[in-house]
Amino acid sequence: MVKSLNRNNLSEKKQFFIDTIAKFCDKCGNPYNKNDLEIIQDNNISSIIHFSCPKCKSNHIATFFKPIGISNRMPINTDLDVNEIGRYAAMKETSVDEILEIYLYLKEREKILL
Ligand SMILES: [Zn+2]
Repeated sequence: MVKSLNRNNLSEKKQFFIDTIAKFCDKCGNPYNKNDLEIIQDNNISSIIHFSCPKCKSNHIATFFKPIGISNRMPINTDLDVNEIGRYAAMKETSVDEILEIYLYLKEREKILL
């Protein structure tokens, strides 16, 4: 479920994700700022964050797994916009086992196409 976040809270979270997951664009090295992030999902187990680079227009989806403190990010090449991705991501509650499974799966791949 997507929690509603108040403005301050949201800004703090975005800063946290920039500090923790990606300070710079993977492709061109442009520094991210809070406006370049979209929090797609955020619950007790995991967060999914969409990073879009204003300079080279590349998009990355990052997942942050809270129980194991691991983040993973991958370039995306998709026609879905951020709202659509959010809808898919919010469809089902995810268990820790599933997250680990996805994590192991993603680790083996450099790029996924949604
Ligand atoms: Zn870039």
